[in-house]
Amino acid sequence: MPHAITVNDLSVSYDRKRVLNNIFLEIEEGHRYGILGPNGSGKSTLLKAMLGLIDDYTGTIQVLGQDVQQVRKRVVYVPQRSEIDFTFPATVRDVVLMGRYPHKRVFQRLNAADNTMAEAAMRELDILNLQDRQIGELSGGQQQRTFLARALAQGADILLLDEPFVGVDIPTEEKIIEVLRKLSAEGKTLMVVHHDLQAVPEYFDHVILLNQRLIAYGPTEEVFTPEVLKRAFGGQLALLQQAGQM
Ligand code: ADP
Repeated sequence: MPHAITVNDLSVSYDRKRVLNNIFLEIEEGHRYGILGPNGSGKSTLLKAMLGLIDDYTGTIQVLGQDVQQVRKRVVYVPQRSEIDFTFPATVRDVVLMGRYPHKRVFQRLNAADNTMAEAAMRELDILNLQDRQIGELSGGQQQRTFLARALAQGADILLLDEPFVGVDIPTEEKIIEVLRKLSAEGKTLMVVHHDLQAVPEYFDHVILLNQRLIAYGPTEEVFTPEVLKRAFGGQLALLQQAGQM
């Protein structure tokens, strides 16, 4: 069986400046990976590279044994909320239904089965009662639930999430982690960029520590140690500890 994702000697540059160097990863199916590292360490860039969204790179990335462009439907990306334009007019239901479009041919209509999947996803995230509300009017937690519901509606095997816990209320944080656990129990693979170190052992069974290079990756209990964290975060670790994020 192929790995969910295989990254082989990946290096990425923006304007010729290297931001990721020689990354090798084998991501196993059915696990929850936390991607950790200081600001600017390349966490979001790694997710984007796995989505085929980065132009200037060397090395190879295989998703489910194939080029990501061939398995687009089976991978879903939930961007950071700060990257989403909430001024566009769309209801919660519209956004969740967008998860069905990767399964459609151009101009093909959504059908009853698509509506059923979208409703099931909204029910899972407890947002069925918000379905007619405009996305821009909602709280951060409600918006994040909506984008996770869109990802569920797609029914992908691999979910890539960028900072899903930022700016959400505590019940939403608990709901998100409940859904992520359930998805990995169903065999889905989750990769989550995350910055708050405190909850890591509870949230993720595997971690990837980055600082432009791969510092370490593997099962959380083996890799999430003070020595490895110090190698990844350097002087920032003391600041995180002071801020109660560790
Ligand atoms: P992280 O997610 O760990 O904070 P990023 O992957 O967002 O890190 O960024 C890694 C580095 O690449 C940073 O120095 C950032 O400023 C730079 N960078 C990110 N996106 C771009 C871009 N589109 N153009 C130029 N530089 C970028």
